[in-house]
Amino acid sequence: MAGEEMIFSKSQKLYELAKKLMPGGVNSPVRAYEPYPFFTSHAEGPMICDVDGNRYIDYCMAYGPLILGHAHRQVIKAVRDSLSKGTIYGTPTEAEVRLAEMVMKAFPSIEMIRLVNTGTEATMHAIRVARGYTGRKKIVKFEGGYHGAHDYVLVKAGSGATTFGAPTSLGIPEETSKNTIVLPFNNTALLQQIIDQYGEEIAAVLIEPVIGNAGPILPRKGYLQDVRKMTQEHGIILMFDEVITGFRLAFGGAQEYFKITPDMTTLGKILGGGLPLAAFGGKKEIMEHVSPLGRVYQAGTFNGNPISTAAGLATLKILSTKPDIYEQLKRKGDHLRKGLQDIIEDRRVVAQVSGLESMFQIFFTKNAVTDYESAQTSDRNQFMNYQQNLMKQRVFVPPSQFETCFISAAHTDAHVSKSLEAMDSAISLL
Ligand code: PMP
Repeated sequence: MAGEEMIFSKSQKLYELAKKLMPGGVNSPVRAYEPYPFFTSHAEGPMICDVDGNRYIDYCMAYGPLILGHAHRQVIKAVRDSLSKGTIYGTPTEAEVRLAEMVMKAFPSIEMIRLVNTGTEATMHAIRVARGYTGRKKIVKFEGGYHGAHDYVLVKAGSGATTFGAPTSLGIPEETSKNTIVLPFNNTALLQQIIDQYGEEIAAVLIEPVIGNAGPILPRKGYLQDVRKMTQEHGIILMFDEVITGFRLAFGGAQEYFKITPDMTTLGKILGGGLPLAAFGGKKEIMEHVSPLGRVYQAGTFNGNPISTAAGLATLKILSTKPDIYEQLKRKGDHLRKGLQDIIEDRRVVAQVSGLESMFQIFFTKNAVTDYESAQTSDRNQFMNYQQNLMKQRVFVPPSQFETCFISAAHTDAHVSKSLEAMDSAISLL
C-alpha cells in the first residue's frame, strides 16, 4: 500500500549481479536507472509486480505493445493453443496469411506486407526497399524520431537547424550516416528547402506521425499533409513509422487518424500482441521489389513465427470487434491529461502535458513541446524525481523523460483516478 515502506532487496541484489553480466545490467538501455530498476516477477491487466512483492499501476506497458493490458486472457489462450502445435516450422502457415489480410484491411495503404520480428528490422528493411525501388541513397528523418537501433537511423541533428548526420552511436561509419538527413519535426520550410536541394537523391522521408520517442510530440495541424504533398511532388517515398501509433491512435493507425496515405508503413509493438512481431509494407509496385519476388533481399528465421502471429491475430481480432475500445481509451487519456494539467496548475509547477488518445507525458518546461528542441528544455532531474515519487505511490511510468506513457484497455477509471492522486502527491513533493 502507498505510504508503507517499500522493500526492494531482491531487485537490488539482482541488479548488482546483472551489472556484472550484462552492459548496464540490462538488455535494453532505457530499462536501467538509478539507484536500481525493479525486477519484474509477473504482470496482469494494468498491474506489474516486482520480485519483492510490490505492485504498480503500469503506464510503461512494455513501451507500447500491450494495448489490451498484460496477460490478456484471450491472447494467452491463443499463444497456448499455438504452442501446443509446435513453436516454429520454417514453412508458411495460414495464420500469417490471415494476419496479413487483417493488417491490410486496417491499413489500405499496405497492398503487400512482409512480417519481421522487431521495429528495428522493419525500418531497416523498409529503407532498403525504398532505396532499391527509387535507386536513391538519401533518407530524411526527424530529430527525436526513433526508428530502431540500426545504422541508417541512429543519427540525430547537431545544433544547427539541419545537418547531415553525425552518428548518435559509436560504431556507425560516416559513410552510412552521411546519407541520413535529420530535420526538425513540425518544420515544413526546412523540409521544403532540403527537398528542393536534394529531392532527386532522396529515397524516403521516414516519420513517426506522432513522435513517441521524445515523449509524445504531436504534428501541428496540416503538417503531415504538407509532408505528404512535398514528398509526392518529388517521387520520394513517404514512410510512416507506425510502430507505436499503429493500432494505437486508431485501428488503422495514424494514417487513419490523420487521413494521410503514406507509400510505405512500418508496424510493430501492438501488432504482435506482446510477442516479437513487426512488419513493413506499402504500395504493391514498391513491395514487389522484396525477395523472392524482387531483388531487394530480406529474410528471417523467425519472420511471421506462429507464436507471435497467434498473439497478434488474437489482439487484432479483439481490437477490431470492440467498436468502442478506442473511444474508451481516448476518454481515459483525456481524463488523465486533464487531471494532470489541473494538478500542474493547482501546484503551480512549470510543466506541460502532452499526448493524445492513449498516449501521454509530462514535460517539466515552460515551453510548448512541439519538437525535439523544445522537449529537450525539460528538466530531466525533476522528471526523474517525479518518476521516483510515483514509484513510491505504486505507479510506474517509464524511467525517462523522453518516453511515452501508455494507457491500456485494462486500466479502469478507478485506476486512472488513483493514478491522478499519486501524481498529485508526486508533484507536490518536487
Ligand atoms: N520505430 C518506433 C517508432 C519505435 O517506437 C521503436 C521502438 N520504440 C522502433 C521503431 C524499434 O522497435 P524495436 O524496439 O521493436 O526494434
